[in-house]
Amino acid sequence: MTTTQTTAAAVRPVELRAVTRRHGTGEQAVTALDGVSTSFAAGTMTAVMGPSGSGKSTLLHCAAGIDRPTAGEVLIGGTELGALDENALTLLRRERVGFVFQEFNLVSALSAAQNVELPLRLAGRRPAPDEVAAALTAVGLADRGAHRPSELSGGQRQRVAIARAMITRPAVLFADEPTGALDTRASRAVLGLLRDLVDGRGQTVVMVTHDPAAAAHADRVVLLADGRLVDELPGAEGAEAIAARTAALEVRP
Ligand code: ADP
Ligand code: MG
Repeated sequence: MTTTQTTAAAVRPVELRAVTRRHGTGEQAVTALDGVSTSFAAGTMTAVMGPSGSGKSTLLHCAAGIDRPTAGEVLIGGTELGALDENALTLLRRERVGFVFQEFNLVSALSAAQNVELPLRLAGRRPAPDEVAAALTAVGLADRGAHRPSELSGGQRQRVAIARAMITRPAVLFADEPTGALDTRASRAVLGLLRDLVDGRGQTVVMVTHDPAAAAHADRVVLLADGRLVDELPGAEGAEAIAARTAALEVRP
């Protein structure tokens, strides 16, 4: 890679070029994503919004290499995912991408600390001393490492999931409705944590949310409708402005 390419990849950890994802064929075909082109700048937080079924999860899954586009290209750190075989894609996903789900997806039989170190174990790495403790401390759970998920609140579980996603120092952290299952207070803590990762560590975060107040934490809000990017605005415009734009999409014919 030339220096210019390296720099471009660092500045744009994720890039989508005319990404289309279709499910099924013929009469049954559904176009979940329809020619989406965008990129997510390093050290920024982007909120992805849009009506139910507009393609938000599909966008995240394609951008994270969890799902493969029907057409178009996805680049992570300058690597085009379509060129990778399943093994290479699995490795890239494991090492360069963090993903957080609405339902946390922690392993219930493992402690919080064991959940956090799981991605390292899967990669055949032994965690460095204090690595897991530091990750738990960073999400405010220094004293909860020995607890099972069932012994933690929803907000605490999601923070464990974020620590687990961050342990490999991914180029980008994706979160699909990370506060969707949380009450207002726990949501605020999780959003504050994501914002701190961006501001304090230069983490790149892309988050799907239905909540305009959550989206207001982002630097940039992109709006999807029918699989297309139809609008965007700065998160700094605030929850009311974001709510007005999303409401306009809901009533589209
Ligand atoms: P959102 O996250 O915005 O609610 P999704 O990305 O989950 O939307 O879905 C976008 C569209 O694609 C919806 O119409 C959905 O029904 C369809 N879809 C998603 N996954 C599949 C699938 N595996 N098979 C068929 N249709 C799908
Ligand atoms: Mg979804």
